[in-house]
Amino acid sequence: MLLMTLVLAAAPMNTKPIEEALTKQFGEPQRARVVQGVRQVAALWRKEDGDLAAFAKDNFIVEQKDLDATFARFEANFEQLDGHLLEIGRELQKPTALDVGPLLKVDPLFAEYDPSAHLTEDLFNNKLGFVVLLNFPLTTLEQRLAAKDWSRQQWAAARLAGRFSRRVPAAVQQEITSAQAAASLYIDEYNVWMHHVLAETGERLFPRGKRLISHWNLRDELKAQYADKDGLARQRTIIKIMERIVTQTIPASVIDNPTVDWNPFSNTVVAAAPGTVEEDAPKKKAQAASTKPEPDVRYARLLANYASQKKADPFSPIAPTAIDRAFSIGAEMPEARVKELLESVLASPLVPKIAAEIEKKVGRKLEPTDLWFNGFLPRGSIPEKELDAKLAAKYPNAQAFAKDIPRILQGLGFPADRAKYLSERILVDPSRGAGHALQAARRGDFPHLRTRVEKEGMNYKGYNIAVHELGHNVEQVFSLYDIDHTLLAGVPNTAFTEAIAFVFQAKDLELLGLGKPDAEAERLRVLNDFWMTWEIAGVALVDIEVWHWMYDHPKATPAQLRAATVEISKKVWNKYYAPVLGGKDTPLLGIYSHMISYPMYLFNYPLGHLIAFQIEEQVKKTGKIGPEIERMSKFGAVTPDAWMLNASGEPVSSGPLLRATEAALKK
Ligand SMILES: [Zn+2]
Repeated sequence: MLLMTLVLAAAPMNTKPIEEALTKQFGEPQRARVVQGVRQVAALWRKEDGDLAAFAKDNFIVEQKDLDATFARFEANFEQLDGHLLEIGRELQKPTALDVGPLLKVDPLFAEYDPSAHLTEDLFNNKLGFVVLLNFPLTTLEQRLAAKDWSRQQWAAARLAGRFSRRVPAAVQQEITSAQAAASLYIDEYNVWMHHVLAETGERLFPRGKRLISHWNLRDELKAQYADKDGLARQRTIIKIMERIVTQTIPASVIDNPTVDWNPFSNTVVAAAPGTVEEDAPKKKAQAASTKPEPDVRYARLLANYASQKKADPFSPIAPTAIDRAFSIGAEMPEARVKELLESVLASPLVPKIAAEIEKKVGRKLEPTDLWFNGFLPRGSIPEKELDAKLAAKYPNAQAFAKDIPRILQGLGFPADRAKYLSERILVDPSRGAGHALQAARRGDFPHLRTRVEKEGMNYKGYNIAVHELGHNVEQVFSLYDIDHTLLAGVPNTAFTEAIAFVFQAKDLELLGLGKPDAEAERLRVLNDFWMTWEIAGVALVDIEVWHWMYDHPKATPAQLRAATVEISKKVWNKYYAPVLGGKDTPLLGIYSHMISYPMYLFNYPLGHLIAFQIEEQVKKTGKIGPEIERMSKFGAVTPDAWMLNASGEPVSSGPLLRATEAALKK
């Protein structure tokens, strides 16, 4: 009932009389601004917000100097609001995030609390959001992409208005959150006990106790099997498990249940002999052996995500579907262009050449399992134990690492003064987790580098991650402190800051004075990255097509969605993968868990690889990491294409990845 009223309240009202009255009051030259402003407000105005005509009359700003001053006030105040709220959250999370002693029972509750969760709704309720919408134009993605000669202030104003482009009611937002939480829980509990999965021959191939979560652990186990000469039978078994999950022909009784033995080839289930059952098995889950298939739960969860997202559509006038929001608000790249980029990798003539190299390495014809070939990864030439000892001596605690940051930064090509400037703005904390870079959102506050240091000192893994996080922190300092508009602080999306972090991370050994990676290691790294991009590009295409199918079939049942997903997965496989990996008609590409628990996110991964290669190529061209990263980072959160144009002279492109791969194949 509640939702019903909200939907009605969001229906378009007749704004003509208000537009005419305001134009009459402020003059004909203001007509275009009045019409746009009033309609922007009306699209999100609710009955309980009061008298729209009176609000518009009181708050419409005519003079440019008043508009500029108002813009500046919003920018300054939002920096304070966002920055201080971020600090509050950071302080509340301190006990759980940092290695600072035992946790109290209340600490996780504090860590969960997000003081900014209701900020946008509050700003609408007290009308500040509507003042923005009345006076500053919302922009479409098409306008931002065409904005060749926008001033920086125009970009910043577009970000200011964009903040209020949606007003999703709390009840709808809650439903989205709940659907996603249910999907995540479903995925989190989706384990397979491998000792009880039998090979085609009926043999047990996996050790006792191995419990793998779909799809991440299954995939990583498959990758690890390349190191074993008898790994292929295990890999084929894992592929069969994955196919059964996608098609939901997996018996429900075998999910997270070590009391039954399952042969995924014949799809038979029998009770496991008592002596084979793991003692730590979740007793409550034990079910009798049955071949009854999982009842399309996977697709019911996905449909629930879709249904909840769809309820938000009416409250997002400039991006009225979840697909629009993923591309025009999230990625800020048109869907057609993203697909084109993915296809440029998927259909690249380099694929069969790399496949030929893999075939030589594995010594057999390729098959679907080789979608996850990982044999390009070079082994490090220095034993990790030796590195651990060196690092423990160098960095006995987090502060020792902090002290060394100026030297590290100079090693990356920053002049001494910039290295000092950066190191004074990056605070280092001892982390409980593996490592993390936490941005700041107001000047006067500083980004934090969380790094894990064991009792015996930092180890190589911790150091490698710390250098990666330092890359994020450097970007965070420049894109906040050295930016002309704080509304543009940051990067277009996470792929950009990840790419910068990877450029840093790749230099970790060099920074220890242990020499550059050799040419062969570099060549293999490029081939490995290409193969990973190729793999995930197809998965991303499936995800996008499935969402279109759901929007085209709003009344679909889980069984129908399953059939469609299987068809789409097969189609993409047959087009791009079957020619090199065989396995015609496998639905394998539908296995990614992100499809179920992180709706419409997968395409960001292949884009991230492309962006990383672009930044890397640019940095290599000039040979100076430091000054280039500074120049790029200061451009801030414009669109990905505008950012990359400034960074490298080219919009986002697969060119650098393809060029690097081609060069690697020639060597
Ligand atoms: Zn990162």
